[in-house]
Amino acid sequence: MTETNNAPTLSFEVFPPNSDVGVGKLTDTLDQLKGLEPSFISVTASNHKLDYEKTTIDLAKYVHDTLQCPTMVHMPAAYVTKKEVKDVLDRLEKMNINQVLALRGDIVDGYVPETDFKYASDLTSFIKEQKPNFQVSGACYPEVHPDSKNRVDDIKHLKDKVDSGCDQLITQLFYDNEQFYRFQEECAIANINVPILAGIMPIVNRKQALHVIENCSAHLPKKFVNILDKYKDNPVSLKEAGIAYAVDQIVDLVTNDVQGVHLYTMNKSDTAKHIFRNTASLFDLEVPVEE
Ligand code: FAD
Repeated sequence: MTETNNAPTLSFEVFPPNSDVGVGKLTDTLDQLKGLEPSFISVTASNHKLDYEKTTIDLAKYVHDTLQCPTMVHMPAAYVTKKEVKDVLDRLEKMNINQVLALRGDIVDGYVPETDFKYASDLTSFIKEQKPNFQVSGACYPEVHPDSKNRVDDIKHLKDKVDSGCDQLITQLFYDNEQFYRFQEECAIANINVPILAGIMPIVNRKQALHVIENCSAHLPKKFVNILDKYKDNPVSLKEAGIAYAVDQIVDLVTNDVQGVHLYTMNKSDTAKHIFRNTASLFDLEVPVEE
């Protein structure tokens, strides 16, 4: 097999704007991603209702038609019915989008979930029944999903999810690659053999840094905390150091034969471009000429 065939994939995640920003303003920014040719761009969705028209579907259409990039749509299922999912799948098929990230979504206090899909695995098997040609991805958690009793249960349920029809997995963000490598080994032991794409979120501003420190259950290595601390009042350096940290993580992951890297862009196209330029050859990708 040639080196080209073995190259890992690089993909991006974007999220729809809230209704007062509008897709138009966001697309001005995302237009900068044109020509980068990631293996796909995924579009997140609100977990409460498949309010797809003005949000996820609109943005997915733009990614597919304007950026001309393979598109993956996130689909959280806890608050939707089979009929609603079927309608969205038909819609996606008509748009020539056949990649879905099948999710349960978070259970929100005070909102009673629907009963059609209890776990992401229920949605995965439903999609595979309805649209056997769709590629279905699933979420996974190198540092264990917060609802899980323990690591063993988490991996057992992940194995069930993969057996229900997941073609690949995408991880929650992490800042310590050792956590990812340990998780990869646990998956291998549990006979989870689908590709696992590593989710990387570069830190590019103070607000995001504080949010990560306060809310992130991921292990934050000392080297990473030092960066956030030292540059918390220096936006330019914080951004540069945050991007450099992400590039360093990616280089290490690729050196250790990761199957793919999924970049949480936070809709910051300049950051995504910067990282792309610094890592493209690792993924056998070319930096566009106008770059
Ligand atoms: P599941 O796989 O169903 O797992 C949820 C919990 O249930 C886990 O603890 C699991 O171990 C347990 N479990 C699974 N099966 C069983 C079983 N049979 N019996 C008992 N326990 C079981 N959320 C959004 O709202 N919108 C998004 O766009 C979005 N995108 C995401 C993208 C990625 C890459 C990731 C990692 C997460 C994303 N999320 C998103 C968050 C996700 O919806 C939440 O983490 C949610 O709480 C769990 O969803 P899941 O699909 O992993 O659930």
